[in-house]
Amino acid sequence: MKRALILLASAAFVCAASASSSFAAAAQADTVDSNVPTQLPRTAVPHHYAITVTPHAQRLTFDSTVSIDLDLVQPTRTIVLNAADLKLASATLTPAKGGPALIGTIEQDPKAQTATLTFPRQLATGAYGLNIRYSGKINTQANGLFALDYKNKEGKDARSLFTQFEASDARRFVPSWDEPDYKAKWDLTARVPASEMAVSNMPAASTRPIGGGLKEVRFQTSPVMSSYLLFFATGDFDRITKPSGGREVGIVMSRGNGPKGQLALDAEAQILPYYNDYFGTPFPLPKLDNVAGPGQSQFFGAMENWGAIFTFERILLNDPAITSEAERQAIFGVEAHEMAHQWFGDLVTMAWWDDLWLNEGFASWMADKATQHFHPDWGADIDHVQAREAAMALDSFKSTHPIVQQVRTVEQANQAFDTITYQKGESVLSMLEGFAGAETWRAGIRDYIARHAYQNTRTEDLWAAMERAGAKGLAAIARDYTNQPGVPLIQVGPSQCVGGHTVATITQSQFSSDQRAEVAANPKRWHVPVRATAGAAPTQVVTSGPTAQITVSGCGPLLLNSGQTGYFRTLYTPTQLHALQSAFQSLGPVDQYGLMNDQMALATTGYQPMAAALDFLGQVPSGGNAKVVQAAVGAWSGLYDDFDKDPATQAAIAARVSRLYGPRLQQLGFVPRQGEPPTDSLLRGSLIATLGKMRDPVVLAEANRLFAAWRSDPNAIPGSLKQTWLRVIARNADQATWDALHAKAQAATGSVERTSVYQLLGASHDEAQANRALELALTNEPGKTTSAGIITTVADQHSRMAIDFVLAHLAQVNQLIDISGRSRFMQRLSAGSNDPALIPILENYAQANLAATDRKPIDQAVDRLRFEATSLPRVRSEVAAWLRAHPA
Ligand SMILES: [Zn+2]
Repeated sequence: MKRALILLASAAFVCAASASSSFAAAAQADTVDSNVPTQLPRTAVPHHYAITVTPHAQRLTFDSTVSIDLDLVQPTRTIVLNAADLKLASATLTPAKGGPALIGTIEQDPKAQTATLTFPRQLATGAYGLNIRYSGKINTQANGLFALDYKNKEGKDARSLFTQFEASDARRFVPSWDEPDYKAKWDLTARVPASEMAVSNMPAASTRPIGGGLKEVRFQTSPVMSSYLLFFATGDFDRITKPSGGREVGIVMSRGNGPKGQLALDAEAQILPYYNDYFGTPFPLPKLDNVAGPGQSQFFGAMENWGAIFTFERILLNDPAITSEAERQAIFGVEAHEMAHQWFGDLVTMAWWDDLWLNEGFASWMADKATQHFHPDWGADIDHVQAREAAMALDSFKSTHPIVQQVRTVEQANQAFDTITYQKGESVLSMLEGFAGAETWRAGIRDYIARHAYQNTRTEDLWAAMERAGAKGLAAIARDYTNQPGVPLIQVGPSQCVGGHTVATITQSQFSSDQRAEVAANPKRWHVPVRATAGAAPTQVVTSGPTAQITVSGCGPLLLNSGQTGYFRTLYTPTQLHALQSAFQSLGPVDQYGLMNDQMALATTGYQPMAAALDFLGQVPSGGNAKVVQAAVGAWSGLYDDFDKDPATQAAIAARVSRLYGPRLQQLGFVPRQGEPPTDSLLRGSLIATLGKMRDPVVLAEANRLFAAWRSDPNAIPGSLKQTWLRVIARNADQATWDALHAKAQAATGSVERTSVYQLLGASHDEAQANRALELALTNEPGKTTSAGIITTVADQHSRMAIDFVLAHLAQVNQLIDISGRSRFMQRLSAGSNDPALIPILENYAQANLAATDRKPIDQAVDRLRFEATSLPRVRSEVAAWLRAHPA
């Protein structure tokens, strides 16, 4: 799964938490590992499901039957399986060897999300067929079978149906053993309107008319797979295809959008053979579709259903009228991520959610690798460091968790889709690949995939494969980084030049934002691979004890973590820092980026003065590498936000950024140029956004000019910059501008453009307009999956207002968010704020609405707010002093 570009979550979700008491002391299940956690008694093992479903799209319900071939592995009278929001009408069990069918009584437990079937007598072990007739509901957010409404090509209201099952929502579609370890074969038959196209994991085996305007589509039997990977969609679709890697790849989208799918189709065709080779096992299914859904989710952007990826339109379809350069790159990156899952996740699946990172960390890492391979000019190596920084930011608080973590409730499984699982996972894999060497690493991956195909694994299985491939010593590093949380801190002692080598002592400790004294007194220890350069060839050592000596060729400035694949922070002496500042322009862009961010994090947490970081930030020239300039502008933008109650200092920062980087924007021009480097396109967008936010007069004048022109000419704003310019307009909107933007949202035809403009209505800095946006979000006008996005947009600048509003309308707002995202919505709403007054509000909210086991997102938000309350006064005064001492 690819996380939503915007992450939300909130509210009164009562989950299956208490089901933990029913963890069975398992018996010897034939294909299921009894050591794997489960919320079901291990009495039965399913092998094959045959589902026949009839959706009633207009009534938002469906009828269905399922026949399950299973083995009873213990004598029992009851069978317990998962079911949520389903009405089970009948259940019969027939021994495979023949005999009369037994009718089961049905008892459903909504809280545990289970159905217990009790039969009239004790059942012997052996093979049975279980038939269940049931009905369910079609949701309007992305859980189970769900509907997405949109305007079709002719401007008429249309509705398509899709499924979303990860982590634990297959049970909303079919009574099942809905845990990843219970792999089975699946047959799906769907009765759908004759005019529609139905899509599933496998190609259709047969289609026949069944009267009443319906047809029955029977799909081919899938290979064994976990329940969360099953997929079904039906709608007024077009499908475009290409042969690739001995298979057929396809993009499915609402009718008439074919040309917008071409970019994604080409990428899919490019990536498949590359992965076939990298993984050493060819993609095993006959076809691979990527299905576009209109709308969005606050929980995820795309989902790796085997053979039938689902992706929201914004990050799958390339629409020249609205798609930005960043989104065009995301189309490739997200597709590369979901396609990596076809092996890592789908063919080989984690046994339980504890090891979710095996799926997500790996797919993120692999997507970066594919992006670097096919698009070396996109700067994915720098994005990769950005991912590491995001992970370290969260990982330095006491509310962090290890990559491999205990997941015992449905809600904890949903919450596991976080920055630690994705970005720390990806960063650690990158470090380990660097340690093993790319060839050895790939050999280990090929071995792992071949050995565990169609099965389930745990983290240790991957390390075993790497050690077998020859990466000796890797498992010790890997275990330290995956089983314990936190960020190592490497402190460098004074260095000396001895015979052409730089010699220094490094001391290992732990970096923390909110527990500096505690971790300094009692730091965790890691095996840390440390790469260092001093103007010549790099040296790598693995340090595990408190101190180690490093000897590095050359006597130039000493740089640790050169190449930036290490997961640790580096604290230098003032002399070393000064040497690095002087040499900054000669470092590669990745090291410039990594060093700048590392020093900023050490300064904001108080390990060193802010001046140490600002001296690096001040080194980034207007004409520097586009990605590094983008990062520097982003850092200034963050500092600008820190002074939200000090307009004088904000003005000083704004003037500085305009003077320093305004010329770069002038040089790039306001209009994208044919054939320009993609990193220039991204930088242009960042500069417009930041200078617009800081009210740079040149940028504001251009924004107003473009907006006036756009009101009569829909092509007046270049499509790839439309969202950027409109955000500048929306941010500074008064009532008349807001009304004009609202009218454009109402009139928008494309579903991505419509959603984008509606969300921007929440972006006004003006409280009155922000309030109007919140009120609008609770009406039916924006559309069921757009409203939550409006609320989050408001929260970026008016966090307290958005949170108060959501708390006042909690039940209504919960209907606007997928169930899996609700517990994180409040964390998302607080993300833009540094107001300590939010702490008790968030804590009360958690107390009232979240089970004690499920409060991690709120703990994380509270830790951050507490930290900012203590650190910001110092940061502000040191930044202000530095600005006075360094006039631009
Ligand atoms: Zn994923």
